[in-house]
Amino acid sequence: MVRHAARYVPHYRTLFRREGIDPAGIRTFDDLRRLPLLRKTDVRANPDSFRSEAPVARHAIPFLTSGSSGAPLNVYHDPASLLANMAFGRRVVPLLERHGVNGTANRQLYIGYPGSTLQNVWRAHDEWAIAPMRPERCFVSLLDPIQSVLDAINNFRPDVVYGYGAYLEHFARAVHSRGLLLRSPKVIVYGAEVMTEEGRRLIQQDLGIPVYSDYAAVEVFKLAFSCEANNGLHVHEDLCPIWIARVDGQRADTGERGEVVISNLVNRGTVLLNYCLGDVAAVAATACSCGRTMPMLTDLEGRVEDTILLPDGRFLHPRAVWMIVRRRPAVIRYQLVQHAALRFELRLVTSDLEAFARVAPEVTGDLEGVFGAESHVDATFHDDLPLGPGGKFRMVIALQSGAQ
Ligand SMILES: [Zn+2]
Repeated sequence: MVRHAARYVPHYRTLFRREGIDPAGIRTFDDLRRLPLLRKTDVRANPDSFRSEAPVARHAIPFLTSGSSGAPLNVYHDPASLLANMAFGRRVVPLLERHGVNGTANRQLYIGYPGSTLQNVWRAHDEWAIAPMRPERCFVSLLDPIQSVLDAINNFRPDVVYGYGAYLEHFARAVHSRGLLLRSPKVIVYGAEVMTEEGRRLIQQDLGIPVYSDYAAVEVFKLAFSCEANNGLHVHEDLCPIWIARVDGQRADTGERGEVVISNLVNRGTVLLNYCLGDVAAVAATACSCGRTMPMLTDLEGRVEDTILLPDGRFLHPRAVWMIVRRRPAVIRYQLVQHAALRFELRLVTSDLEAFARVAPEVTGDLEGVFGAESHVDATFHDDLPLGPGGKFRMVIALQSGAQ
């Protein structure tokens, strides 16, 4: 990948020439750290300079990051990277089989938002894979009322349900407290965003469904996965080796928390080496009891996301809000604050007041349509919106905030 970067990626071509780095001298994981740390702001400043000009990158497909650490960024993946990720995904099969899921042919239900990265990945798989995908898959929008999501699960009878941690937790709580009938899947898997211990307990003990997490990011897709021992998240180190950086950029000791730094060794769309992902974790100091030797992440500080609870019993994940706002390219950044049950403030960053005046009524109108007839959304103009603790940006601040 370093040789590829030196030859085809403008940013690295310039860097290696300027710094006198010989790409052939970078051969191991430890060698990678001789490259400077790359920050999101560096990539955002000139995203095209990280795109490979190689023929294999010609068919690369853009995917938008969620913007949880600031403004979203387009990351390109070439078809081979998308297909390779399917193979890396097979590493969870032993875990699924342990819970009675057929590792080859199974039924999977995803709760997400329409137009999500996941759907774009599926489309790319359908386009580029030679054989049809074996799992039968069903997609449900997290914008749907809880009863329709429940009906979809009960009718489709999935083996595995995938979704956002915060959403699944609220969903499980609603099912449990309202005594709704749920035909339980064999396993629930959530993305590495915070699910509280209480939520986990509710799903595992009260609903009797085993729950696991995985860790993915648009920059690389699969990053780490749960094994059947469930001690932490094993890193796909042959896809994307990870090290942990201290604030000063030095490598942290094992067991020490710091920023997750990734290098994607597979993707020849947007090439990212020694890239700070913006997440905080530690590499486990002890080996996992499952016997796998891949390094394991612990203490992953998932993206803390607030879920909006509405008086009619619905709850809206921040991605539902994102889905509405992202349709307007004039919005550079936004933050939705729930001041009262049905009273909201939408803080918008746009290029100027004129753009704000044009886009604000459209977005607030759409949001009020989702929140309900009694709701009110006020838009306010901002030059910029500050990042929260740890450089994280909360796109939604709910009345009952999950974050501190
Ligand atoms: Zn393990």
